[in-house]
Amino acid sequence: MTNYLKRAGKVLSRINELASISDSETYLTRVFGTAAFVEATQKMALWMRQAGLDTRIDSIGNVHGKLRSDKPGAKTLVIASHIDTVVNAGKFDGPLGVFVGLDVLEHLFKNKMLLPFHIELIAFSDEEGVRFHSTYLGSKVVTGDFDSTLLNFKDKDGKTLHDVIKNIGGDPYLLYKDAIPADEWLAYYEIHIEQGPVLYERNIPVGLVSGIAGQKRVELTFEGHAGHAGTVPMDLRRDALTAGAAFILFIEDYALRNKEKIVATIGKLEIENGASNVIPGKLVCSLDIRSVDNQLLDAACTEFKEKLQLIAKDRNIATNWNLIQESSPVVCNVGLNETLKQVIIQCGYEVVELVSGAGHDAVPVSKVSPVSMLFVRCDKGISHHPLEHTEAEDIAAAIHVSENFIGQLIKKHENHYGNISIDKVSS
Ligand SMILES: [Zn+2]
Repeated sequence: MTNYLKRAGKVLSRINELASISDSETYLTRVFGTAAFVEATQKMALWMRQAGLDTRIDSIGNVHGKLRSDKPGAKTLVIASHIDTVVNAGKFDGPLGVFVGLDVLEHLFKNKMLLPFHIELIAFSDEEGVRFHSTYLGSKVVTGDFDSTLLNFKDKDGKTLHDVIKNIGGDPYLLYKDAIPADEWLAYYEIHIEQGPVLYERNIPVGLVSGIAGQKRVELTFEGHAGHAGTVPMDLRRDALTAGAAFILFIEDYALRNKEKIVATIGKLEIENGASNVIPGKLVCSLDIRSVDNQLLDAACTEFKEKLQLIAKDRNIATNWNLIQESSPVVCNVGLNETLKQVIIQCGYEVVELVSGAGHDAVPVSKVSPVSMLFVRCDKGISHHPLEHTEAEDIAAAIHVSENFIGQLIKKHENHYGNISIDKVSS
């Protein structure tokens, strides 16, 4: 374990070095396509090259480092995470996975390991989607799922994605060339901080991800009638906010009744022309629902819509349900997860299976490849915040497990266990 701790120290110092490259002088923010972003990709490319990887930066700014197999027709195992951040971010979300992957590949290269498949490490350029309000730009290019209408998206200064790609030295018309063809993917493995408190509460360094929750984002509108807070009697009011409050408590109650499988959040609430002496006339709020069970997700929405109509009728107001965004749940590959589970046990850790409530690059990748993920404990579950922290011991555990996992995959392929029993699980 001492050796892994030493390696974790190197990973940590790289995480710190990358975190010093920021759009802001006072806190860490590194969004897609900025000068800091370009500097970070170049730094990452340098580290990959020094580790012995065949390295390149693609048109959307993903950094690729590859260890090649001599085997004819070899497929590719992709190990990846992202290096863009949210605003005022923590330094572990994303880079931890890339650097743990880099450390493992560095050792494979040093040990002159013969590979039955190619291994490609990718530092994705945009997962958080802060600049263009569109997630997974980097991994969508690599999976061949990039929608070219995105190129017209503008950032807050009016710059299009098309122009930003040109600015960082990419060719917006050649993005398709950076896709790994669907039949060349062997598997995908992502290491990421948990971004939740389960591992921390249970005092376990790493966890096995069973799946990634599907998500629906809805904009809700409640429209009643504004009025004077002093003159309109209570029974004659059409208060949009109290209608919304009744709905919000219903949502909470529903999610609590199904708490093993679903989470629901109203995180944004706007009262039009809100004032202390005015009865709220119009309320607009967000609704975020997540579950790994697609049927439950749909059933919840049906029930929520019915409740919305009931409230509208009872309170004589108008309501509107506007679906903004949705994604299907992703189930991590059963074969890969079985191998990962055995490796976690062999490394001496308790196995905890977790569902990821947050989206990850594994979501778009799951369309072309079997996927697997390892979560690493983060302090108190804090993430997307400067206090985000992971202990060196936990990084050591992630390296220990990841190295053995890749080792097992290599062994299984060499021993000709067919396709490492990777059964492609669709969502
Ligand atoms: Zn992340």
